[in-house]
Formats: sequence, structure tokens, C-alpha cells
Amino acid sequence: MDNLSGELTPCSKSVEILPTTMRQMRQKTAPAQHTLHHAISAVGIGLHTGRSINMTIAPAPAGHGIVFQRTDLPQAAPLPARYDYVVETHLSTVLGEKARPENRVATVEHLMAALCGCAIDNALVLVDGPETPVFDGSATDFVFLLDCAGRKTQDLPRKVVQVLEPVRVEHQNAWVELLPHSSPSPHLSMSIDFPARAIGAQSYALDLTPTSFRNELARNRTFAMRQEIEALHQAGLALGGSLDNAIVVDNDVVLNPAGLRCPDEFIRHKIMDAVGDLYLAGCVLNASFRGNRSGHTLNNMLLKTLFAQSSAWQDTTDLQSTSAAA
Ligand SMILES: [Zn+2]
Repeated sequence: MDNLSGELTPCSKSVEILPTTMRQMRQKTAPAQHTLHHAISAVGIGLHTGRSINMTIAPAPAGHGIVFQRTDLPQAAPLPARYDYVVETHLSTVLGEKARPENRVATVEHLMAALCGCAIDNALVLVDGPETPVFDGSATDFVFLLDCAGRKTQDLPRKVVQVLEPVRVEHQNAWVELLPHSSPSPHLSMSIDFPARAIGAQSYALDLTPTSFRNELARNRTFAMRQEIEALHQAGLALGGSLDNAIVVDNDVVLNPAGLRCPDEFIRHKIMDAVGDLYLAGCVLNASFRGNRSGHTLNNMLLKTLFAQSSAWQDTTDLQSTSAAA
């Protein structure tokens, strides 16, 4: 499976039918791929196992993509961070090897969001357990690690997939959709409506840039209802969950002593999750994303639906701009 990042990629279609004006625009603006300047390591608790997890994020060559690798399993195959390697979406987004169920890495979405928000295209993520560290339940510590590692320009242009036709996935009253979008920055908007009055109805929208990711999304934490946590603990799940790494809500009360980091922290976190989940396209996805009461499952189904519909997307990576981007 060593060459998986070169196979099945949604970014492998021809660019020949790209309109001349769009190609000219991309030749002027196409940014280069980036990896880390050097490897960086951290240790943290896994949200679901409660175990201490050692994680190293290492540089990787241009065209490699983001790939996860278990270091505690002998001869574990690498797990490309792509929608078609997602094996579970119940409590988090889980990458895995279908033929070897123990080879899996859970809770990749916050790290993927940080990698997307920091415009890192290529990295090898080594973990010695079945999930990434949860840290404080936001992307703040991942962004800090990526900043410490530094960002290195590479000699290929960033891969970009442009959405050409609307794609929508629904389940009961939840839905997500991708719409064509002409701006160079992806746009995301979402609404939620929880019975718990501490959350209630919230909506948020932003154009995704490295600056807006850091300022508006990165520091918002994951959240759960107190009753859900008790049920998860009884089922042997969320064993690492605590007030240190999640907002815990009990109807109209936030149980964390320090309260919220901002009044709409919940919806901002949901959009951050979507940023991470959509980066499992395997490259930049230029589209307008809209969601209502959605989560990891619909986000993954949306990518599967998009890439199954060849007329709905186009790889607009302009290989002619390689030298200009170097
Ligand atoms: Zn999350």
C-alpha cells in the first residue's frame, strides 16, 4: 500500500478542459504545496481510549498528501487521510484499513482541520495508538505544533478540486451540500439547533483562509451533553473525556468552570470539524459548503457522493505553474 497516495486520488483527472480564463487566473495565483520544516512530537490523552498517545508530525515529499501511520502495530499499512479510508464516523472521523480492523486512527478531524487551516499539504503523522491526542478538544495545540515545526515551500502547485455542480446529502432533518464557488477561498456556513438551552440555535459562516481559521475557528472546543458522556463511559467509550478537553452541557448550564471561550463556540467547533472532514478530499476543495445539523457521517457521505459523480467536480491543479510556484 506504499503507493496509495498516488492511486484513487480524486485529484488525478485531466486539466485539459479547464477554461482558458480560469487557467490563466490559476497560473497567476497558484500557490505551492507546503510541508513542515522539521518533525515535531507531542504526547496527549486519547479522547476515547483515555490512553497516553505519542504523536509525531513529520515532513513528507510534494505529492505525498497527509498520511497517518500506526507505529505500535507491526507492519501496519499507512492510512492516507482521504474520504475513502474513513471506516467510522459515529463519535469522530476514523481512518482505517478495512482488511485489518485494528489498524485505525480515530479523531483525525481536529488535526486535519489544523493542517488545512495552516495550508500544510504533505505530512506523515505517526501515532502509537488508535487515535490522535485530543489536547484541549480544539485545534489550538495542533496549530501551535505546526507553527513550531515551521512551513516549508515545495516544488509542486497545491492540488485543488473545484466543485462544478451542486451535491447534497440529507438524513432526516440534517443536510449538507457543496455548491460551485468562484472565490479562491472556500466558503462554509452551518446551522445547528439543540434542545439544550445552553446551545440552542446557532449559525455561522466564513470564508476560509489561514487567518480566519486561526482567529475564528481553531480555539473552539468539542462538546457533549452530560447524559451522553455518562452513557459513553458505561459503554467503555470517551474514557479520556473530561472538562479539560470538552465543553460539557447539562441543558441550560455549561459545566466547565471557566465557561465558554465565545458565546457561539458550539457552531464554530462544528464548522472546524467540517473543515477537517472536507480536507479528506485529499486536497483543497474549492466550494461553498452549507450544512444544517450535520456531522462527521454526512460530511463523509458528501465527499463520497461528490467524487462518485464525475461531472460534479474538476481537478483544476495547473501543472503548468509548477516552476512559478516553486
Ligand atoms: Zn470536533
